[in-house]
Amino acid sequence: MQPYTLTIAESLDHLQKKELTSKDLVESCLQRINKTETKLHSFISVFEEKAMRRAEEEDNKRQQGQSGSLSGIPISIKDLLCAKDTATTCGSKMLENFISPYNATVVEKLENEGAVIIGKVAMDEFAMGSTSETCAFGVPDNPWKEGYITGGSSGGSASSVAGGQCLASLGSDTGGSVRQPASLCGVVGLKPTYGRVSRYGLVAFASSLDQVGPLTRDVRDCALMMNCIAGYDEKDSTSVKIDKGDFRQSLEAGVKGLKIGVPREYFGEGLNEDVEKIVRNGVAILEDAGAEVMDVSMPHTEYCVAAYYLIAPAEASSNLARYDGVVYGYRDGTADSLMDMYKQTRSQGFGDEVKRRILIGTYALSSGYYDAYYKKASQVRTIILNDYKKVFEQCDAIISPVAPTAAWKRGESADDPLALYLSDIFSLSANLAGVPGLSVPGGFTADGLPVGIQLQGPHFREDILLKLAYNIEKSTNLANVLPEIQQ
Ligand code: GLN
Repeated sequence: MQPYTLTIAESLDHLQKKELTSKDLVESCLQRINKTETKLHSFISVFEEKAMRRAEEEDNKRQQGQSGSLSGIPISIKDLLCAKDTATTCGSKMLENFISPYNATVVEKLENEGAVIIGKVAMDEFAMGSTSETCAFGVPDNPWKEGYITGGSSGGSASSVAGGQCLASLGSDTGGSVRQPASLCGVVGLKPTYGRVSRYGLVAFASSLDQVGPLTRDVRDCALMMNCIAGYDEKDSTSVKIDKGDFRQSLEAGVKGLKIGVPREYFGEGLNEDVEKIVRNGVAILEDAGAEVMDVSMPHTEYCVAAYYLIAPAEASSNLARYDGVVYGYRDGTADSLMDMYKQTRSQGFGDEVKRRILIGTYALSSGYYDAYYKKASQVRTIILNDYKKVFEQCDAIISPVAPTAAWKRGESADDPLALYLSDIFSLSANLAGVPGLSVPGGFTADGLPVGIQLQGPHFREDILLKLAYNIEKSTNLANVLPEIQQ
């Protein structure tokens, strides 16, 4: 048995029984990284020495009976989460040399529970994208098929977990960036309810939509990660004071009597046949397990893309105004006036997609256009929230595709940003409404590419999603299935 192939729960069990040490586990992942990284490019930085030191510490603590709930477990984090004294690049030249002076709350929580942060992983620049191809420091590759995208923006998180390089990862999801790469790489990904997990120390993209979420090899591990990262944080003013309970508790409770809505708008034109089959199979699994399946309507789904691609860029244009060469990161040193320094710094530091978003966002917020664009989009957002409210009066959760297709070849979407935006159609609404969404592996396309099934539920009902996903996972047998990676 190679330790890197274990889930978190299995590893903890072996650690407890002294059949494995944290050092073995971390070393196994580091070796796996060494072997596969030339192919996968998941990481922007790997903390070899520090991780081994931390593993030893955790082994010692365990000896003394002081271990935490994730003691000695190697975890990667997306490179937009601040980890003290390490670079946090956000996948951008702009922050290439930025060293975090403090820990994000989620990083603090992981370390308090004994997790070993093994490195920081690749992402679309400032989390803007669905392929991870806009990362300034190497593009991650899909562990299931060479030359295919991982999805994005948490692509490095997904490839590092699916590729056996770590046991779990933290990503962020503003419009699908945890769920979609999880789907495309065959792992579990959860976007928690807005306010459930602290955003303190997460570099902001669109603050009213951003949530940190775990990517794991199976549903139980997802619950374990949530137990660690969820909870109120006074450092995040949008964090919600609500009991988190134990996310593992409901996993095995069964789904009998639960009502599952199948929103008809999610099954229209443009949905790949294999993806549809896999999602319908997920519906059948839940029905067989005793859930009541019903047809429901989310009538405003088609407006999600337009609303999101105004609101997210508007917030981004404001959040990214701070990167002007004065306080953080990159500065063009050749300019001879302040104005030129701003201009040149931003022209050189940001990539094309980030610039596109800043332009759209600034335009949408400018006086004269604010009412027509930003305000309108905010109104649409309320309408979408109302769609969810109505649907959740009829059912406990909804089931759908995460994305219209499986992974595609790298480079294929480079020239058509609009088509790429449209591929987010099924994931954006959860962020607009703040509800939780989860992607669980559902099967493979005829080409051998993984496809996830999306479950969404009412605010703070992650427990329902985990329970449903656990049932699907049991039936598909797709927990912790790792691809062969050709060396
Ligand atoms: N693909 C979406 C975008 O490009 C979502 C990104 C995300 O969730 N961070 O904005």
